[in-house]
Amino acid sequence: MQTPMDRLADFDLTPDQRQVREIVRDFAQKEILPYVEQYEKEERYPLELVAKLPPLGFMAPMIPEEYGGAFQDVVSYGILMEELARVDWVIASVVSVANSLVAGSILKFGTDAQKQRWLPQVADGSCLCSACLTEPGGGTDLGNMKSTATKVAGGWRLNGTKVFISHADHAGLFFVVASVDLSKKHGGVTAFLVDPRETEGITIGAFPMRTLKRDKLAEVHFEDAFVPDDALLGEPGKGFPVLGSALDTGRFSVAARCVGQAQRCLDLALPYALEREAFGQRIGEFQMIQQKISDMTCRTQAARNAVYQLGRMKDAGVPRASMESSMAKLMASQAAVQNALDAIQIHGGYGLSEEYEVGRLLLEAKSLEFGEGTSELHTKMIAEFMLGIRKQ
Ligand SMILES: Cc1cc2nc3c(=O)[nH]c(=O)nc-3n(C[C@H](O)[C@H](O)[C@H](O)COP(=O)(O)OP(=O)(O)OC[C@H]3O[C@@H](n4cnc5c(N)ncnc54)[C@H](O)[C@@H]3O)c2cc1C
Repeated sequence: MQTPMDRLADFDLTPDQRQVREIVRDFAQKEILPYVEQYEKEERYPLELVAKLPPLGFMAPMIPEEYGGAFQDVVSYGILMEELARVDWVIASVVSVANSLVAGSILKFGTDAQKQRWLPQVADGSCLCSACLTEPGGGTDLGNMKSTATKVAGGWRLNGTKVFISHADHAGLFFVVASVDLSKKHGGVTAFLVDPRETEGITIGAFPMRTLKRDKLAEVHFEDAFVPDDALLGEPGKGFPVLGSALDTGRFSVAARCVGQAQRCLDLALPYALEREAFGQRIGEFQMIQQKISDMTCRTQAARNAVYQLGRMKDAGVPRASMESSMAKLMASQAAVQNALDAIQIHGGYGLSEEYEVGRLLLEAKSLEFGEGTSELHTKMIAEFMLGIRKQ
């Protein structure tokens, strides 16, 4: 049955995009959602659920067909991310990192050999990806990174530590940034494609979090890790534009994931407000609960509109829509957090019990306010674009 929200969300999608939503939603609700709480309780990485994605093309929504992918258009990619995130943060993150940060960078900056080597493996799910960007000294100020890449015969030696790294234990490909000259700050940043299974000098340790136990975030240490010359993505010292482009696409997919999370909060709050009674009536009949439902709906749809508009700009060939990416990411992540808070409030104390999902959604949504640029960074960037201080 189509809800009023479905009509809004689907209004100006093409028939193909509507079909994508239908197929992905059906898959996600039946094949992923019923198992997520169990993985969370067992603190187990959902490898078996990830394995369900490639046969349907859901592992490679941004990879062209010639490399085994299922690219249709950027809006469709956003729809996929939204529906996957609506059921599981981790599954959505697997696809988001692999497509936006890693495959997107290879497609744009990689050599033919790098495309042939990596993209089919990412598309068929045999190679999960991690992005090793954040360092103990900070994730926002990436130009100030301390990891180094030193030229040696036949390749490079990487040294440094990366923290908060999603999927590292299971990844067959690391997108790593390190500096070839620390004194040059942004000008020293260089991007590499690293095979962690074939590289000596890489150790992966636990990076325990209060949330997302099933994602098993890691810290990754590079100690004189040798990578061959063909691991270089782009040119030495020219990694900052690679990073910028990766994060730009990453912001689109994270924003779409936030819409999915915000929608999930509504999915859970609506039936609860209609079932739970107080003072002889359903709580959904109290004006203050209705206020929250109305705010949650408006926030979700406003964020969705911003994400679709950004996707359409990308589909129309706008090379970098940086301000719009920041706007979509900022609005959508704040919508996801506020919707989680409202959904918890509607659930009363049960919102924080293990019996209900909404409490978990709050910390998961909050984490999306950090990845691919914090809310403060995006606020600053939007203002700088508007003031003409920043150009891209
Ligand atoms: C669940 C989760 C998964 C993650 N997965 C990955 C991953 O796979 N790979 C990876 O590399 N990283 C990952 N991260 C890390 C994430 O990208 C960083 O947390 C983020 O970049 C912020 O860096 P930081 O935490 O070091 O905060 P900092 O950079 O230290 O910032 C601290 C605070 O200062 C603010 N601040 C910084 N600069 C400014 C400024 N100029 N103006 C105003 N305020 C400012 C920030 O907004 C923030 O509020 C993950 C994080 C989480 C929570």
